[in-house]
Amino acid sequence: MSDVRSSDGDELRALMARVPSVERVLASEAFGPVIAQYGRTQVLDALRTTLDAWRGDAQAGRASVDALSDAALALSIGEHLAKRARSSVRSVFNLTGTVLHTNLGRALLPDEAVHAVAEILTRPANLEFDLDTGARGDRDDLISGLICELTGAEAATVVNNNAAAVLLTLSALASRREVIVSRGELVEIGGAFRIPDIMSRAGAKLREVGTTNRTHLKDYDEAIGPKTALLMKVHCSNYAVTGFTKDVPLAELAPLAKARGLAVAVDLGSGTLVDLAQWGLPREATVRETVAAGADVVSFSGDKLLGGPQAGLIVGRRDLIARIKKHPLKRALRVGKLTLAALEAVLRLYRAPESLRERLTTLRLLTRPADAMRLAAERIQPALQRMAGGEFAVAAEPMFSQIGSGALPVDVLPSYGLAVRLASGKRPGGQLNRMEKRLRELPRPVLGRIADGALRLDLRCLEEADEAAFIAQLEARSAGA
Ligand SMILES: *Cc1c(COP(=O)(O)O)cnc(C)c1O
Repeated sequence: MSDVRSSDGDELRALMARVPSVERVLASEAFGPVIAQYGRTQVLDALRTTLDAWRGDAQAGRASVDALSDAALALSIGEHLAKRARSSVRSVFNLTGTVLHTNLGRALLPDEAVHAVAEILTRPANLEFDLDTGARGDRDDLISGLICELTGAEAATVVNNNAAAVLLTLSALASRREVIVSRGELVEIGGAFRIPDIMSRAGAKLREVGTTNRTHLKDYDEAIGPKTALLMKVHCSNYAVTGFTKDVPLAELAPLAKARGLAVAVDLGSGTLVDLAQWGLPREATVRETVAAGADVVSFSGDKLLGGPQAGLIVGRRDLIARIKKHPLKRALRVGKLTLAALEAVLRLYRAPESLRERLTTLRLLTRPADAMRLAAERIQPALQRMAGGEFAVAAEPMFSQIGSGALPVDVLPSYGLAVRLASGKRPGGQLNRMEKRLRELPRPVLGRIADGALRLDLRCLEEADEAAFIAQLEARSAGA
């Protein structure tokens, strides 16, 4: 027994002696390119870690001496560092069928916004400097005129997102007082945003009126008292109450508020600036219509139907916006210059409504002709079939996309895409999940959705400019490749 162990020990010692010196490896020809690319510090670190791991493997009896050659070490360290150098925030192909997908970054920005941001990234700008007077300026002034022009509001301000806009509005206008909201509008959006929670965080007291399905004007009227600060309406972004229902339209609520000397705040959620019905999309009240119908403050997201960067816009009466801007939370929730630059560029596109459908990415995707998607599906089908292999049958077929982000929750857009099913026609077990994972593990991950025994790739958000790269990626991972 002891003989065997001592011979094992000798072997291990001999093996350990093969571990090269770090200095010599770094000086080797094979390491030249890796050091040139990543720098000596990172490479040295990675090399030490690799050699330590090799020693561990050797002790466990599963190390190969081949792995210690300069070339093998350079290769494995190059791969390790390349992986580490890859950014964690990565672009993907959104083939989920949801255009404004909150988990995938919502609106995609047009080139105009990209250029505006690129410029502001590397150069000083008049963020809070008034170029006319030479005095200190207000960052909101850079953009509030444009927002007012597009919404018909008297004043405007911008914060980090719409959740922040609602929190700030309630904090500034209703702290320690009551806000009347219909029970049919006490929504939760994406888990962490619930109207009752935001209300209490803002120090306001929620006064619920009506029932889940029906609220009448007299319910609001009877709830108004000395502590009332605001009447509030919240867009039912991600659900619909149907059947025996009644809600009080803003046009009826606003006169009541006015008669009782109160303001109406509206959380519009998506807040579109144009009537989407002109492009055959479902109708939704615009911000301008909401202001015109008598809302005193309206808040909405920058990165939903508006098609811009993440932001929360608040528009409305001059005196109320002034109070909102003076609240200390405004400083904590304000937007940076990148957001302002991107938002201004996107808003400017709205001045030319004729070209909006083409230039505003979100709108272009939402109005994409079904024919274009069908032809794309037919072009991509062979490559996806080859990648999927004979176990699967890939078919180009019609499907339905959603707008997403709570915009117009019940409406679906006729679309076209690829459906992956088992070739045997049987109900799939784990096979579709494995296929879904293969697509997700591509260099630029492809995200679809599994439903009704098929993995569906909706092609609405794969524009033609990206199609060749998409196909090339599939070809590179084809069964044979
Ligand atoms: C989306 C939404 C919000 C939250 O907006 P963010 O910009 O995501 O913070 C708030 N209220 C409504 C009604 C919404 O639809």
